[in-house]
Amino acid sequence: MWPPGWLAILDAVWHLVFEPVLERRCDQARQPMSTAQNPGGESPDASAERTTDAGADASVPDGDVSARMEGTSAALTPIMMLLGGVRSAVAMVSRSNALLLRLLAQLSDLYPAAVQDPAGILHTDAPELVAAALGVSTQSATGQLIFAQTVAGRLPNALDALEAGALDLPRLESLANAIRPLDDQVAEQVEAQVLAGGPRAHRASFTSACRRAVHNLDPDGAGTRAKRRRHDRHVRLAADNDGVSRLTALLPTDEAAACYQRIDQVAGTIASRRPEGDDRSRDEIRADVLVDLVLGRAEHASPVPVEVQVVVPVGTLLGLSTEPGEIPGAGPVPAQIAREMGARQGSTWRRLLTDPNGHLVEIADRRFPTAAQQRHVRARNRTCVFPHCARPSRRADIDHTVPYAHGGATITSNLGPMCTRHHRVRHRQGWSVVQPQAGVFVWTSPTGTVFIVEPHSYRDHENVTTEMPSAASRPP
Ligand SMILES: [Zn+2]
Repeated sequence: MWPPGWLAILDAVWHLVFEPVLERRCDQARQPMSTAQNPGGESPDASAERTTDAGADASVPDGDVSARMEGTSAALTPIMMLLGGVRSAVAMVSRSNALLLRLLAQLSDLYPAAVQDPAGILHTDAPELVAAALGVSTQSATGQLIFAQTVAGRLPNALDALEAGALDLPRLESLANAIRPLDDQVAEQVEAQVLAGGPRAHRASFTSACRRAVHNLDPDGAGTRAKRRRHDRHVRLAADNDGVSRLTALLPTDEAAACYQRIDQVAGTIASRRPEGDDRSRDEIRADVLVDLVLGRAEHASPVPVEVQVVVPVGTLLGLSTEPGEIPGAGPVPAQIAREMGARQGSTWRRLLTDPNGHLVEIADRRFPTAAQQRHVRARNRTCVFPHCARPSRRADIDHTVPYAHGGATITSNLGPMCTRHHRVRHRQGWSVVQPQAGVFVWTSPTGTVFIVEPHSYRDHENVTTEMPSAASRPP
């Protein structure tokens, strides 16, 4: 008899080995596209809708695309087809990863000690067998076995999501790391809450959502762990190649953010007043400032006022809720610490309060935005507002959505953070952006795809980008 679970594995093998999706689709990609491939003559709108509904696998280009592409430049067709192929290949990689994890978990289940305690696998010969089979170190094989067991045993729905292509391996690792200290019941709740929000725009946002779910569902544990982890603080030095070394520090989040802010602020002042010939990057200047500050070199020795933002939900400040606070760019801090930070005497912390919907309560006409406006816009849109860009807004320019030269006002509902790269992209032929509502950016790509980028939600701690079907597929 087959043990339970094998059926699923055989099914996955069938899909991977006997379903030559990519082959077939690559053959199609080599054929010239023509409307003859859509002989049903259904409306472009209907076919576009079906393509969207059918999920990752069906996002591969097929005859429908030719209908969607009508009215769009024919030169873009191969790009869209290749992008479809890339998506399909990524879905296959996820499916293979899920299969690998299930097989490794089944293997460790054959060792009774490992079923009780994942670390028990260490005392069996499984790591050596897997290491020999995969050509990796025993240490690496042990890590893979423990990860597979954790995922198969404690995150079954996330593993299904990986198999379905809804989640990738790095995101699954973030979730597995986040639930490590939790008991099974809370881990299950964290898994459910995180998966309900989907894969998020990028991994950093997904990782942050995992951490927030842990803070939300286990506030006492998060507070206790934060206090305990403070005892792990350290400074380390490690040699790197080519005559450079890494000096790293593990610090409480609030102190780390304050240190970084101080370094960045001094670097900003230097960058704005640099003499001709000083072509150091901002990264280089920050590194030089760190050395100067640590070694007490006179230049920056006098204290400068540093302002660090901490976002605190109103309920948390009043002690009515245990929702965590957040230091933009540094991560969540337990409710108790967020409350204390706001109340510190002579504090350099600027407290941003959010209402129960997680929206910022607004802080404050000329060409250049005031410092208050810049703060507000950067806090409202926490990353560059280009679809899926993860560049933090504190490192982005403030862009007028309707250019100042074209009569655009310098008000927060006409401003948005944009990184240097996407600042250039927006002025390139074919891209357009509007801001129909303060903080909401609607982009149209050269292929006619519409992206809606929402302002950052301080309740869900996410930056949501929605992709709409190609404008070319909609009836006029
Ligand atoms: Zn960007």
